[in-house]
Amino acid sequence: MVALLETAEMQTEKQLSSLSGKIECEGPNRHFNTFIGTLYLNGKSPVPIGPDQILLRGTQLKNTQWILGIVVYTGFETKFMQNSIKLPLKRSNVEKVTNVQILVLFLLLLAMSLVSCLGAILWNDWYRKGIWYIRTKDYSSHSLGFDLLVFIILYHNLIPISLLVTLEIVKCVQAMFINWDEDMHCKGNNVYAMARTSNLNEELGQVKYLFSDKTGTLTCNIMTFKKCTIAGIIYGNQSDRSDINLEKLSLSPSVITESCEFNDPKLLQNFENDHPTKDYIKEFLTLLCVCHTVVPERDGKNIIYQASSPDEAALVKGVKKLGFVFTTRTPTSVTVEAMGENFTFEILNVLEFSSNRKRMSVIVRTPTGNLRLYCKGADTVIYERLSEDSRFMKETLTHLEYFAKEGLRTLCVAYADLTEEEYQQWLTQYEKASTVIQDRMRSLEECYDNIEKKFLLLGATAIEDRLQARVPETITTLLKANIRIWVLTGDKRETTINIAYSCKLLSAHMPHIQLNSNSFEATQQAVTQNCEALGTRLGKENDLALIIDGETLKYALHSEIKRSFLNLALSCRAVLCCRLSPLQKAEIVNLVKNHVGAITLAIGDGANDVGMIQMAHVGVGISGNEGVLATNNSDYSIAQFSYLEKLLLVHGAWNHFRVTKCILYCFYKNVVLYIIELWFAFVNGFSGQIIFEHWCISLYNVIFTSLPPFTLGIFEQCCSQKSLLTHPQLYRISQAGNTFNTKVFWFQCLNALIHSFILFWMPMKMLEHDMVLQGGHTTDYLFLGNFIYTYVIVTVCLKAGLETLSWNKFSHLAIWGSILIWLVFLAIYSFVWPTIPIAPEMRGQVNMVLVCPHFWLGFFIVPIVCLILNLIWKLIINTCNRTLLEEIRELESSRAQGLYPPKMFKRRVEATKLRMSVASTLQKIVFPNESFDQSIPHGYAFSQVEQAVITQEELVRSYNTTKSKSSKISMDSSDSR
Ligand SMILES: [Mg+2]
Repeated sequence: MVALLETAEMQTEKQLSSLSGKIECEGPNRHFNTFIGTLYLNGKSPVPIGPDQILLRGTQLKNTQWILGIVVYTGFETKFMQNSIKLPLKRSNVEKVTNVQILVLFLLLLAMSLVSCLGAILWNDWYRKGIWYIRTKDYSSHSLGFDLLVFIILYHNLIPISLLVTLEIVKCVQAMFINWDEDMHCKGNNVYAMARTSNLNEELGQVKYLFSDKTGTLTCNIMTFKKCTIAGIIYGNQSDRSDINLEKLSLSPSVITESCEFNDPKLLQNFENDHPTKDYIKEFLTLLCVCHTVVPERDGKNIIYQASSPDEAALVKGVKKLGFVFTTRTPTSVTVEAMGENFTFEILNVLEFSSNRKRMSVIVRTPTGNLRLYCKGADTVIYERLSEDSRFMKETLTHLEYFAKEGLRTLCVAYADLTEEEYQQWLTQYEKASTVIQDRMRSLEECYDNIEKKFLLLGATAIEDRLQARVPETITTLLKANIRIWVLTGDKRETTINIAYSCKLLSAHMPHIQLNSNSFEATQQAVTQNCEALGTRLGKENDLALIIDGETLKYALHSEIKRSFLNLALSCRAVLCCRLSPLQKAEIVNLVKNHVGAITLAIGDGANDVGMIQMAHVGVGISGNEGVLATNNSDYSIAQFSYLEKLLLVHGAWNHFRVTKCILYCFYKNVVLYIIELWFAFVNGFSGQIIFEHWCISLYNVIFTSLPPFTLGIFEQCCSQKSLLTHPQLYRISQAGNTFNTKVFWFQCLNALIHSFILFWMPMKMLEHDMVLQGGHTTDYLFLGNFIYTYVIVTVCLKAGLETLSWNKFSHLAIWGSILIWLVFLAIYSFVWPTIPIAPEMRGQVNMVLVCPHFWLGFFIVPIVCLILNLIWKLIINTCNRTLLEEIRELESSRAQGLYPPKMFKRRVEATKLRMSVASTLQKIVFPNESFDQSIPHGYAFSQVEQAVITQEELVRSYNTTKSKSSKISMDSSDSR
């Protein structure tokens, strides 16, 4: 961002208010990198405005405290908002399946009604003569329609309307459980997890693809100078401090203090006690103080370092703690206070960083008047420029490899002494190169290359891009749970790969496919080539990583190769996409969502993640330092990435079990009761007679069987939280959705049909020959109805007990309580009429039913006959097809009973685990391909800004920190920060 010359002079509010003119610019669009406009100032010639003069919404100021600006786009017209997508309505997969089944059930209801109508016609036809005492019907189309309506009303309860109400309440409570979870409570800033919607609770148990942002989500965006190697000696390598770190890491990232930074007294001891490497240490620390583009700003006694590269800031801060303080920058020099003494280095040239060069150098005149070139950069480029006299090469290389394995970002540092003659010669070359008009960058780089040689190696630095607490552990667990993790970031390729290593998403032996092309043809060729190389392994999960950048992705998402690109990506265990725009993040999520029938989850913290959070089936926002936009657009918000483990593996799995059980049970109990009306139709001549009393039917779902679905939906657990977290493989059960699909649903309905058949015909046959009760009463249809109704309630409640895996006091209350409530209700209801004018036909029923020995005989026999079938079925399944869940439940119960779990159990659990994860044990594939990379990277990363509006040289030359900066102007609405 650079000000126009015409307006650069304006530094106060007063000057700004005197400004008059207009800006003409292009209409609002979503292209971040372009802007075309013209500034017309009164009395001056028009000036073009480009992207360099534009600050996008949400950007942060660096290197300056304030700026003055004019707002061009507001609200929905900002480029940022133009990148947002329409908010889709999110419904869970379970809900979608359920809705389809309800529709099918409705069609079934119509079919049943039609069959009953037909039955009525046939019955009337057959018995017309025998039933002269009943007025026979004349079947016209009118009465047929009427009959149809009667049967629809008779059977309409098949559609469980109460289910929707039950589910709403259940999900609401589930959401509360998430909100209250102390394990997902970030104590540092007192943030609890929050379920912003309750619609998707069960979806959390089915996630297959996880799309994660990097900065702020996986990392804290804090760089720390961690370790270094100087003259072949490694410093900062105390592993005994890890216990302190662990304690700290459980706190919020912002709470972690500087004590995690470089802190090795050995370095200073060696320096002070005249160790043989003393001079190297001094040179090393001096280099880090001099060779960079950081600007120091004094704030009272403190020095604040402003840097566009957080890596450089970390290094300068790190050496400051060691007594080498970078204090002043003027356009031509830097001053370093080393151990209390001031040294001024004249900056002669800055040889800039670019990702091509992978290094930056400065040429300085040291306080003693010598010419010296300081350089820091990637190990590969430094090593090939080392002089033959250079020492410690082997040791440093070993250390570099060690740093890389730890996931640290490394830079090699080296210097070269120049002679006056050499320098002057080079300077003329340089001046020539810097005036070249065409391809200046390239000629400059060539020129830089001429002087960057014969380096003497000093050592290397290792910077940690600090991960959020427990990120590697969480990723390992999620991978075990068969969740594929894709990292989508706006950051650079090197830093992304580096983070993927440190958070254990990539491992050292994992080969990666790099896609990096700048044309459609090249991308197409690379994609096809890699697909062919994979051969039969395409589409299967391989131990591979795919790395692609935003530019290549633009071509890869072209409709022609979209499909093959996706196949390639799906064949890899980890996918890293770097340099993506917010819209591209959303596009990738959308691609997977549309082409793979799996549940996706996107997690991010910043405004640039909003698109993908909204696009994914489940969006999770991290309430971090980057504002609330991500959390406001998410479905669930958590404070740290690691809480995802509990949210998915525990809450997700539990909720999925709970919701699906609740749904299946609700359908079951409705079918059981209301199909009985169909059976009854066979004995009442399809007359539409109801076997139960009206209010009893209505109160069935409202009172008598309302409690078991709630206990199933709220308290049911497949196994304990501890087991779910220690055996992430259990997540696959809910992920695969085998506990709830069309097949399971209709199996449950068939089960209900059989139950209803037994529940009707057994009592029916029992009372076939009628009986005379005390007082000369004869039995009637309602007598039979009350028998059946009672048996239905007992069976249905006990079925809930059979479904319950974890009994608690609520399940007991719900199951036994419901049966009791019905019996008490029956007793009271039989005496209501005529005091209250309802249900005259129920008068005295309790005296007839409850005293009848046949009733009590059936009370025990009928439900047992129904449920014994289920019990046997369960027995067979659990014996023949034992799942990991069963093993673990058995282990848990033996523990709960205080028994020491026999070794055999554990062995069986391990064996089942192995069987389940057999898909993820992969054979190594080796195939030659140019985009195929199998080397272990040395973790090189350099977060320097490239191709910035102003060059690094200009940046360095434009500061003079000895002069006091113009005092802060009063900030008000004119400030556009
Ligand atoms: Mg972010």
